[in-house]
Amino acid sequence: MRTRPYEGRLRAPFVTARRRVETVTGVLVGIELADGTVGFGSAAETYAVTGESAASITAAVRGPIAAALTEGSRPVRGHAEAVAGACVANAGAKAAVDVALHDAWARQLGIPLATALGGDVATPLHGDMTISLTDPEDMAARAAGAADRGHDTLKIKLGSDWRVDLERLRAVVDAAPDAALRLDANQGWDVKTAIRIITAIEEAGLPVQLVEQPVDRRDLTGLGEVTRAVGTPIMADEAVSGPEDALDIVAGRCADLLNIKLAKCGGIRQALAIADIAAAGGIECMVGAMMEPRISVTAAAHVAAAHPNITLLDLDSAEWVDDPGLADKGYSMDGSLMRLHEGPGIGFEELSPTERTPS
Ligand SMILES: [Mg+2]
Repeated sequence: MRTRPYEGRLRAPFVTARRRVETVTGVLVGIELADGTVGFGSAAETYAVTGESAASITAAVRGPIAAALTEGSRPVRGHAEAVAGACVANAGAKAAVDVALHDAWARQLGIPLATALGGDVATPLHGDMTISLTDPEDMAARAAGAADRGHDTLKIKLGSDWRVDLERLRAVVDAAPDAALRLDANQGWDVKTAIRIITAIEEAGLPVQLVEQPVDRRDLTGLGEVTRAVGTPIMADEAVSGPEDALDIVAGRCADLLNIKLAKCGGIRQALAIADIAAAGGIECMVGAMMEPRISVTAAAHVAAAHPNITLLDLDSAEWVDDPGLADKGYSMDGSLMRLHEGPGIGFEELSPTERTPS
């Protein structure tokens, strides 16, 4: 197993109700199997969501996770379970290794990862483009620019003062009148504020497809209150970090949709378990990503292509990163459409150290 630090500058600051990010710092992971097959994964420093730093990711991968993996030969699922059980927390580090294992497995089979997981790469995936939380004029200009580049679905970051949030939303609708809108408050409202603003949006007839994580992640009761009070579908994101959370949310009818991220739940095995639990409860899922490297985003897209209950995609983060070394790897974009490459695994080759040395 090898790890390498990673740093990519963003083309524009990524701003949510919880954080502001200008660079992506993370770790690339390579796993070489006994027959020489190599698989890749990656994880990004995300203090605000998983609590991990690049240093902690490297330490977890090279420490307990590596130790759990070298205990013997077994099928990929056995290794994935060993990664999940290697230590508590460290979901991003586990996801990087779990993805590298699955990539190596699919490469051994000589087929794309989505195909190995029971799906296919022939059908293009439909994604969105995120608009950071800034002032209404700036958000409107960015929304118009994204619409001009062919994005028909925009994810609008909100979650501050609700009156200004409504101004922001109206400005975006005026600037990109044909776009479908997903709103993400990133836990920024309380229950009453969330119900008030979503009701106002509905009464104004604004084209909002869903609202993501309106309230604090720990407040499942409040999330359920919002879900029952409004007609707009409510999605849980920060509240669902693994299959156990998914079970609570589904059983309590606390949300209409779940947002799965490999870095939150610890990898592909856990992500598929969440999608299965949601399917059993009649709840559809989106696959999203942290602001993280293209390897992670591509792996998430393969998971989306493999599971019929994953019907929504939010995987634009690699488009934010100025990353010439990886720019055409894994998939290509055409407006809001993402086409996965047809090669084995997730389609990344070994990169030269000089390309990936942090600046
Ligand atoms: Mg979110």
